[in-house]
Amino acid sequence: MSAKLIDGKALSAIIRAETAKEVSTLTEKPCLAVVMAGDDPASAIYVRNKEKAAAEIGILTVSEYLPGSVTQSETENVVKELAANRGVHGILVQLPLPAHLDAEKVMSLIPAEKDVDGFTAQNAGNMFLGKEGLFACTPSGVVELIKFAGVEIAGKHAVVVGRSNIVGKPAAALLLKENATVTLCHSKTRNLAEITRQADILVVATGKPGFITADMVKDGVTVIDVGINRIDGKVVGDVDFASVSEKAYAITPVPGGVGPMTITMLMKNTLKAYKMQNGIK
Ligand code: NDP
Repeated sequence: MSAKLIDGKALSAIIRAETAKEVSTLTEKPCLAVVMAGDDPASAIYVRNKEKAAAEIGILTVSEYLPGSVTQSETENVVKELAANRGVHGILVQLPLPAHLDAEKVMSLIPAEKDVDGFTAQNAGNMFLGKEGLFACTPSGVVELIKFAGVEIAGKHAVVVGRSNIVGKPAAALLLKENATVTLCHSKTRNLAEITRQADILVVATGKPGFITADMVKDGVTVIDVGINRIDGKVVGDVDFASVSEKAYAITPVPGGVGPMTITMLMKNTLKAYKMQNGIK
């Protein structure tokens, strides 16, 4: 392997320590509310990890565990109460919600200033308008990882493969905000390899294990692999790490790259939400 490894665990530790240091200076602590409905085991693990990270940083948490049979109006009322509670600075609805609930309607009740996941139309709009706001955690982590690798983003050709609302689209918007020239690819893109071979920075979020192979990248590319795929008990990314790392300048491993950054950026967003609500710069 010749590529430099972009260590998401190391960067996470740095950002978490900085966030904890800033939180320790506050008399009132930032508070993150987590709403979970049903007993999806993967969601339960994610929620526990978020609570643990918050506790380590000094951020308070309020967890609303709702039964799988909860109604739409009961769920909406929980979110409305948290929205009105001045002691709560961030609200996160753990997805997926049970199928009978309208997740979009529930999420729309989160005020933009408490939307620490950056999923509301207002925050997504601000990001596309190049304004300030609370931005989606995984794509924010992607940008931090590129900077951590010492790679300048401005002026580079960044190719993002995948256009989901939670990863691909916001990653493209944030890279554009950082002055990259951005190409956003998806399943209908023609001649994908021709485009990915032009990338100085390649962000991959397809959910297809090992999808990007060495013949699809140029020498010296910086690769951020967002993919998390479980195969035979092993977690692998969307990039064929073994072959691509022979050509890349820098690459994130899976696990240990983007993964740890998502919760870290959530913590950073919770502190940012607190500061915005208290008029702190
Ligand atoms: P989605 O399934 O929502 O989106 C996948 C995207 O990939 C779609 O835009 C799709 O295109 C595109 N795609 C699929 N096949 C191809 C193809 N053959 N060529 C080009 N584009 C293709 O996934 P997510 O964005 O939610 O997640 C992507 C990956 O990232 C998953 O592995 C997920 O587990 C992981 N993930 C990791 C996180 C982390 O914390 N590290 C957080 C969130 C996700 P189209 O729109 O045309 O269908």
